[in-house]
Amino acid sequence: MNINSLECPYCHEYGFSYHAYYIRHIYIFGKKYTIRITRVICRHCHKTHAILIEDIIPYSQIRFEDILYMLKNKTADFIDMSHLSYILKKYTPLSSITYKNICIRNRRKYICMFLST
Ligand SMILES: [Zn+2]
Repeated sequence: MNINSLECPYCHEYGFSYHAYYIRHIYIFGKKYTIRITRVICRHCHKTHAILIEDIIPYSQIRFEDILYMLKNKTADFIDMSHLSYILKKYTPLSSITYKNICIRNRRKYICMFLST
């Protein structure tokens, strides 16, 4: 992936530099995986962005696919009950369950970019 071909969502200029990496843990059907997330910084406005691989929801430890499963079935045996009710409470009010809506719902400080690797 060429980060120089990405458009900055803030200033709409092109050109990023690598900024930092951070480690996240995600659970895929109960199994814990460690992934490295790359942060890039815009050379023009100096905002930072996380580059995410598809299927990972920012700031969530659960995959999109698993969230869909939980919302649909109201159960999941790969997650404990308290976590399940948290997820249901969080995402059930969404008018439509799409990857984008879940990301927006889960967003904190940083905008996210959706990039396949
Ligand atoms: Zn920018």
